[in-house]
Amino acid sequence: MSEERTLNFLEQIVEEDIANGVNGGRVHTRFPPEPNGYLHIGHAKSICLNFGLAQKYNGKTNLRFDDTNPVTEDTEYVDSIKADIQWLGFEWAQELYASDYFEQIYNFAVQLIKNGLAYVDDSTPEEIAISKGTPTEPGKGTPYRNRSIEENLDLFARMRKGEFKDGEKVLRAKVDLASPNMHMRDPIIYRIKHAHHHRTGDSWCIYPMYDFAHGQSDSIENITHSVCTLEFIPHRPLYNWFIEQLAIFPSHQYEFARLNLTYTVMSKRKLLQLVNEKYVSGWDDPRMPTISGLRRRGYTAASIRAFCERIGVQKRDNMIDVSLLEFCIREELNKTANRVMAVLDPVKLVITNYPADQVEEMTAENNPEDPNSGTRTLPFSNTLYIEREDFMEEPPKKFFRLGRGLVVRLKNAYIIKGESFEKDADGNITTIYATYFPESKSGGDTTGLNVKGTIHWVSAAHAATAEVRLYDRLFKVEDPGNEEGDFKSYINPDSLQVIKNAYIEPSLLKAKPGDRFQFLRKGYFNVDTDSTADKLVFNRTVTLKDTWAKEAKKG
Ligand code: ATP
Ligand code: MG
Repeated sequence: MSEERTLNFLEQIVEEDIANGVNGGRVHTRFPPEPNGYLHIGHAKSICLNFGLAQKYNGKTNLRFDDTNPVTEDTEYVDSIKADIQWLGFEWAQELYASDYFEQIYNFAVQLIKNGLAYVDDSTPEEIAISKGTPTEPGKGTPYRNRSIEENLDLFARMRKGEFKDGEKVLRAKVDLASPNMHMRDPIIYRIKHAHHHRTGDSWCIYPMYDFAHGQSDSIENITHSVCTLEFIPHRPLYNWFIEQLAIFPSHQYEFARLNLTYTVMSKRKLLQLVNEKYVSGWDDPRMPTISGLRRRGYTAASIRAFCERIGVQKRDNMIDVSLLEFCIREELNKTANRVMAVLDPVKLVITNYPADQVEEMTAENNPEDPNSGTRTLPFSNTLYIEREDFMEEPPKKFFRLGRGLVVRLKNAYIIKGESFEKDADGNITTIYATYFPESKSGGDTTGLNVKGTIHWVSAAHAATAEVRLYDRLFKVEDPGNEEGDFKSYINPDSLQVIKNAYIEPSLLKAKPGDRFQFLRKGYFNVDTDSTADKLVFNRTVTLKDTWAKEAKKG
């Protein structure tokens, strides 16, 4: 973390608390995912924030699974969440589960009943909604509000025993039916749900609601700074009310703006739809904003942390341009990725004056940005593949690549001059013929040759083939979650382009899944886990330049 930037508002709060000796200057945060999906880049912001605060102020961070909703939760999600946090580079103090506190939370509820602060309500959800009144009118309550403590204790115990069906009864806190804050109008704190839980199995058929689990778990763990997103601001009075009434550890809740990214949906519910309805290949599809998707796409943990640091922490909702995320990985890979040559849309080039039986090993710098990256060799012969777009039949004036009579440098090799070409019956160019200048080898004599462009190539006889997957934004519109109708109708139909047979330089045959490269002039790529011994598969992590910014300027 850079030390020069000003403190964000949460760091300011923590520093004040430390200065005032609040909790003895102790800082203990938690990251509380619900294990009902994979983590996404928004969670990364929360992770960097919670773990970052603790790191900065010698504190600790718990990983707490907020697993109070048995129906949607699963151990597959628990495992992926742990793997993603570790991959991001953070270590939790303890791995904890809200479900481990079910007995304690149950006892807290009993305590509220005993103090006349909670009651069992038999009303239907509709009746409960009506009983709460409206924002302009106080609630009237239901007939069950005045049940005796004894009756409430008995009914709540029987709810736990499983004597009632789902929805037959709920436990409500008796707070304030006239409060301007609707969350304070006797919120439901327990519901009946006969469902198997991924950890507690069938031992419970009643489950605490978020508001009666989250703050209580914070308190049980002696969390000092409980950081959540802005939509929980109206829940804060209730968070405090429970802690006061139960006289338990005074954790405090603070809210920050969630991360919203352009061209991205971030809610797990929506991401789950994309997975279940097969719009993507899975949670780790490289187009997904999940941590596992970004990792597979080629993002590094450092680039994601750098992104979170750059966006900072705000108190107001905003929208971050996804190109900032792309900038962060591009910036890192520019420094670290070796340059290689790959031809994605190949056309054959024959150098007519180069001996047909000759092969030269050309020396190529691995990464000009990294003096320690060394060099490699590239076989060169009279038959090469170049990109189809690097040759033009009728080149316009400022075309600095290949055409008849035009000279261009082959990267790390010779300067050549376009001479002629052949076409097939459909009018597609099949072979380009050129001549080379023997003295012009990289570092050699180029007197009299006015070369303005350099193109990449691979030797046809030596190249390997690979599958290359080019990704684009998954959505066509900036804020797909807030458009009219189904967000899935805004999916970009061209978000994945698969090139089955690209030609890659032979040095790449040593590449392993996860390895990252710059394909010269084409972008940054990494080796996908779908690669086999016979065929490598590459993902384009990001283009070399932000092509969308250019599009936007064009209007
Ligand atoms: P979603 O709406 O995507 O399902 P959630 O809030 O229900 O997200 P949780 O698993 O409950 O997901 O979130 C764990 C933590 O991550 C919470 O503290 C939550 O505030 C935070 N978080 C979730 N989404 C974002 C986001 N987009 N930006 C910042 N923090 C987030
Ligand atoms: Mg949640």
